[in-house]
Amino acid sequence: MDHEIQFYNKYEDYIKCKLCPHNCKLRKGKFGVCKVRTVKESVGVAINYGEVTSANVDPIEKKPLYHYKPSKDILSVGTFGCNMSCSFCQNYEISQYVSKSEYIDIESLIRFILDIQGNIGIAFTYNEPFMWYEYIYEVSKKIKEYDKDISVVLVTNGYVNEEPLLKLLPYVDAMNIDLKGYTNRYYNNICGAKLEPVLNTIKIASEHCHVEITTLMVNEENDSIEEISKIAQFIGSIDKNIPLHLSRYFPRYKMENPATHVDAIIQARNEAKKYLNYVYVGNIAGVDNNTYCPNCKYELISRDIYDTKVIINGDKCPICREYINITL
Ligand code: SF4
Repeated sequence: MDHEIQFYNKYEDYIKCKLCPHNCKLRKGKFGVCKVRTVKESVGVAINYGEVTSANVDPIEKKPLYHYKPSKDILSVGTFGCNMSCSFCQNYEISQYVSKSEYIDIESLIRFILDIQGNIGIAFTYNEPFMWYEYIYEVSKKIKEYDKDISVVLVTNGYVNEEPLLKLLPYVDAMNIDLKGYTNRYYNNICGAKLEPVLNTIKIASEHCHVEITTLMVNEENDSIEEISKIAQFIGSIDKNIPLHLSRYFPRYKMENPATHVDAIIQARNEAKKYLNYVYVGNIAGVDNNTYCPNCKYELISRDIYDTKVIINGDKCPICREYINITL
């Protein structure tokens, strides 16, 4: 349903949306890059408020989050709309088009979160959660007023302006942020965005909540050792304990490059480990994705796809007492 948006300026015959770095100028009836924010009766509105396209209870490892509440399940929901246009989008039916959805009011959604046995909270995912800002903000704030131990998670491309990001972060426990590449060429040509605002989001978010990063390695586009090395060095300059997930690309949507070579991802992982304590691979079977103590190499969490066994029982290695970046 329609709902007035936050973060916009009104001018005589248009509004300027300030939610994300596109800063779109919107005239009556015209939509922003995200395809969900427009102007009706001189008021800026989002058309996807409360509209849910997908809802599933997933292992949190699927987000992917490996160091936040490992082995737990989380209700995962999404709507439609996105402010990027990645050629390889895995969810293009809901990110690039207005899709069939069902309206769920905030109270019903919170009841749903509480009623699911063993559920730790809610993950906003599938499409870009910041394009659902007003709904997510209200849901997250209400959840935390009710019980601060219910988890709020965002799985995001990180393409958001600072003011809305800072307003939402007090209600967010964990984020997985895509760092899709490390060049503006890649962000411009493949994703329809810019690199710098994403780096800024990662820096800010990592000061406020648990953060993990995902890079989808796309064959012949961003899968060079040099690019992955720069990504790892950037993350390491913030905190070498931030986990990085290097995920294997398969052809999808408009991108026809063949699937990324497994060898390229393994080599990239070895390179990234020079700068980071925890580097994992995604979309590849049979590769060791366990968590080891960065100091004594003791196994702390074992993973077999989504079968997870947590051996550690606090944030210290039980053998050498090294600090481990983990929330159980
Ligand atoms: S949220 Fe949508 S309308 Fe607003 S600036 Fe970003 S792409 Fe444009």
